[in-house]
Amino acid sequence: GIADIGVTGMAVMGSNLARNLARNGYKVAIHNRSTAKTEHVFDEHGDEGEFYPCESMDDFVQTLAKPRVAIIMVKAGAPTDAVIDELASRMDEGDIIVDCGNSNYADTRRREEAVRERGLHYVGSGVSGGEEGALKGPSIMPGGTAESYDRLGPMFEKISAHVDDVPCCTHVGPDGAGHFVKMVHNGIEYADMQLIAEAYDLMRKGLGLTAPEIGKVFEKWNTTELDSYLIEITADVLQHMDPKSDQPFVDIVLDQAAQKGTGAWTVQTAAEFGIPVTGIAEATFARSLSGSVPQREAGQASLEARASQVQVDDPDAFIESIRQALYASKMVAYSQGFELIRAASNEYDWDIDLGAMARIWRGGCIIRAVFLNRITEAYERHPELPLLLSDEYFKAEISQAVNDWRLIVSYAALSGIPIPAFASSLAYYDGVRAEKLPANLIQGQRDFFGAHTYHRTDREGTFHTLWSADRSEEQQD
Ligand code: NDP
Repeated sequence: GIADIGVTGMAVMGSNLARNLARNGYKVAIHNRSTAKTEHVFDEHGDEGEFYPCESMDDFVQTLAKPRVAIIMVKAGAPTDAVIDELASRMDEGDIIVDCGNSNYADTRRREEAVRERGLHYVGSGVSGGEEGALKGPSIMPGGTAESYDRLGPMFEKISAHVDDVPCCTHVGPDGAGHFVKMVHNGIEYADMQLIAEAYDLMRKGLGLTAPEIGKVFEKWNTTELDSYLIEITADVLQHMDPKSDQPFVDIVLDQAAQKGTGAWTVQTAAEFGIPVTGIAEATFARSLSGSVPQREAGQASLEARASQVQVDDPDAFIESIRQALYASKMVAYSQGFELIRAASNEYDWDIDLGAMARIWRGGCIIRAVFLNRITEAYERHPELPLLLSDEYFKAEISQAVNDWRLIVSYAALSGIPIPAFASSLAYYDGVRAEKLPANLIQGQRDFFGAHTYHRTDREGTFHTLWSADRSEEQQD
């Protein structure tokens, strides 16, 4: 074979990734289950580089130079398993199968093991940035063996987005590490979007600003620490006018947010690991609430606000307080997300470099932001930092914002404006910095009804009180 790499699955993502590879000088074999798609890509884009269209899977595998690298970009789930099997049965020892779809990391771990047993390498790779990213430079998060990265890495680094000449791609870690990091990336994206939406809602309901006016505020915020793709597109979306109705576009969009599931995966996984990703969880559930139509109808018809009218005396100062609250909440959401990555990395021995994850998210993907540099720097200063927020930069930024944050959360509570992500992030901040938490009482309750035992503050050991007898205390070990 002569092709450097192959892509099977010529729908939008696969064809764009193949074109990106070809435009960067690689010889790319292309294949699709139904051949019409392959021909279409070749007819439309064949002049962009060296493509080798293949009609059959046999043909596709034979066209690849050894050790072969075949990227799968087909529908997630059973179709991906089927294509893995078709490839593996035709490949030789040392060849590499790469899944660039949005697979669940647990599936990737399972597939990696099965493919490894057949003597091949399996790389589950997160690819972020949607269609446009796939074509022009995504953020790429490959898992799998270091050996497979030696072969694949240079190609992926070349086609990835670059920031300051640094590629937005690095070897994340073994087996499912890449897809895990991609999942958390998506979870953080949910949190970021929800926080921005809450800031918008506060300006809308608290100050009565119009959507385009709020868009202007976001435009200004994009020149501050918040400088990011999401703030930039928010400013744009809010100022867009609907040509049909001549109203602000967001005013004619139904307020029910959809989701494809990666937020929920992150929340489920975090619950299993016992890592409080409250920002991501609130963001995921806020979307669920928005789509809970019968519940919302019942609530609207029956539940009173009983809110007090809180006067905003200085709108500019209020807007600045919202910005500070947004930044503080964002720091919390990212800190939580990175703790989740760390927990999985420890559990599975992935040895993930957290600072490098922030670095490869600076370009190509939805959460790209100047802010990510601060995270990379923090982990470079202290690789074992147990809490991102405790790094000197974040500590200082958050302590400067915290009064505004409290003001905004209490304002929203008094006014009846729902800001779940702002409020839960502040609660997390106060929880993680608290000297004492009421978990002592929880332990007492658990010991009372379930003899679940407790530890004492003044002595070593595990204890149980005989609640229904004479209430004497027994030492268990
Ligand atoms: P789709 O998810 O719509 O999948 C369509 C492709 O899958 C077609 O090429 C189709 O072939 C092929 N396919 C479906 N079933 C089978 C099967 N049983 N055997 C072989 N091929 C099959 O394509 P997308 O390009 O939208 O997405 C591809 C992957 O990328 C998915 O995993 C998706 O989750 C992920 N994705 C990632 C994004 C990102 O930003 N990272 C964004 C969007 C998607 P045929 O033409 O013959 O039907």
